[in-house]
Amino acid sequence: MTKGRGPLLFRAILLVMGKYDSKLLGSEEIARSTRAFHFEKPDGFTFSPCESIDLFLPEDFPGVSDDRQRSFSLASAPHEDRLTIATRMRKSAYKQPLGEAKPGARVRIVGPTGTMSLHDEPDRAIVMIAGGIGITPFISVLRSEAEKESPRPMALLYSNRRPEDAAYLDELRALEKRLDTFRLVVTMTGTEDEGGWDGETRRIDPAMVKEAASDLPRPHYYVAGTPDMCEAMRQMLDDMGIDDQDIHSEDFTGYT
Ligand SMILES: Cc1cc2nc3c(=O)[nH]c(=O)nc-3n(C[C@H](O)[C@H](O)[C@H](O)COP(=O)(O)OP(=O)(O)OC[C@H]3O[C@@H](n4cnc5c(N)ncnc54)[C@H](O)[C@@H]3O)c2cc1C
Repeated sequence: MTKGRGPLLFRAILLVMGKYDSKLLGSEEIARSTRAFHFEKPDGFTFSPCESIDLFLPEDFPGVSDDRQRSFSLASAPHEDRLTIATRMRKSAYKQPLGEAKPGARVRIVGPTGTMSLHDEPDRAIVMIAGGIGITPFISVLRSEAEKESPRPMALLYSNRRPEDAAYLDELRALEKRLDTFRLVVTMTGTEDEGGWDGETRRIDPAMVKEAASDLPRPHYYVAGTPDMCEAMRQMLDDMGIDDQDIHSEDFTGYT
């Protein structure tokens, strides 16, 4: 598994990380209580899909407290001319000032960071499992692959409680229509008793993963979401006999 490779990997990550000044370009709601924030892409900042940044709000950021840093996976693709993150908006000491910030507000970006990076074997498939806002690294992967002449074979299993919670759902459906190599499985686990959704409602299970990955060439598996969800998915993939080397994950620490 990518996660937990230890101090050597951590030191290697620190070596390639840079510090950059940037500013907020704007933000918009992309699902219930969920906002995307766009930032100026600093000169010299490069990253690969699945990577993250540490976003620091400077001391003079309007309304800021002592709690000034969070990590976010980049939702934008490397070819885009701005950096985008997306997050569930909660009244936390960090997110309140971020949510109220005006375009032009200055931020400090450290990165790229994170424990997950996309494999570089074009003949092998990518199977992505996203819990809620864990979609962020995978929308970056998909936007990036969609630009290529020969996008890699991919499947995404995307779990939310309700459709209104599912960020980027319309874009994902459009990508599935456009890309022959992309299979999308969406499940809404909070709709079983309430209705309003006629698609899949099961939690992601081995049968769902096997079906999504069937016929895909030697997939690597990627998981992003809350630490509990990631742990459950890593265990499930392990129980399914997937090789540890082919399981990669990003725990969105800070969510329970
Ligand atoms: C590599 C990585 C990528 C992430 N990508 C995303 C993303 O794309 N979108 C997203 O919404 N969230 C992402 N997260 C989680 C994000 O950093 C926040 O923790 C989360 O959004 C909750 O923040 P909050 O202010 O709402 O919660 P709060 O309730 O204020 O935070 C919960 C508690 O956790 C602590 N905490 C917050 N972040 C961390 C951390 N990284 N490590 C240890 N403790 C922490 C806080 O100090 C606080 O005590 C990612 C986390 C990591 C590590």
